[in-house]
Amino acid sequence: MRRKIVAGNWKMNGSEDLVRNLVNDVSNGMASLENCVEVVIIPPALYVRDVLSLVGQREAAVATGVQNVAPWDAGAYTGEISAAMAADVGCRYALVGHSERRQLFGETDELVAEKVRKVLASGLAVIVCVGETLAEREQGVAERVVARQVRAALAEVESADWPKVIVAYEPVWAIGTGKTATAADAQAMHQAIRKELSGLGAPESDVSVLYGGSVKPDNAAELFAQPDIDGGLIGGASLIADDFLGICQAA
Ligand code: PEP
Repeated sequence: MRRKIVAGNWKMNGSEDLVRNLVNDVSNGMASLENCVEVVIIPPALYVRDVLSLVGQREAAVATGVQNVAPWDAGAYTGEISAAMAADVGCRYALVGHSERRQLFGETDELVAEKVRKVLASGLAVIVCVGETLAEREQGVAERVVARQVRAALAEVESADWPKVIVAYEPVWAIGTGKTATAADAQAMHQAIRKELSGLGAPESDVSVLYGGSVKPDNAAELFAQPDIDGGLIGGASLIADDFLGICQAA
């Protein structure tokens, strides 16, 4: 059985007050969830330890992650944090290759692959984001682009590491825009991703594939009901406890 996962990517949002209120509300609300979804909170790095101290560390019901890691282990890389550091303080997940990193910070497929290697070597689970732009979808090359991103990021994964790999399909045109892929389009892409993963040797039951892009409580159930969608990566709605919990409940 593939794991159901809902991860909240707070991006560059938050404050000490927001962390305290939101994490407490999400943690308390978890008690009323009627499914066994794995919930992950991915705050800005500066607040990771605050989240961890509220939810507890390695065995906590709510896991914590970082939004990005360096492609290096340690050293003279001002402003960077390593996957090993995230693991050291108690994170369980790291996001890699978010489209905002690819578009605003010029992250290439090769750099994403290097970061995936560092995350897996540190023992964390990696959530690798892939997704096509609107222009690529309109040109009819969406599946080709996403397949290339999946292959580039995951070609070197060792067989023992597949249970620590999660893919998030996030069409770039759906992120923060209020536009969501139809459930049928998302399912078709997830099926294509699954085929690519199987070509790379990933056991079918190991790799969860999440959908991301303007997921809200009112569209989550239909998306998550698709056979190849195993949960979601949530941006805006993860900053509102009731919305995030509603999405978790739908998984
Ligand atoms: C994201 O940034 O990963 C995301 C899916 O954002 P939103 O839910 O706001 O579209």
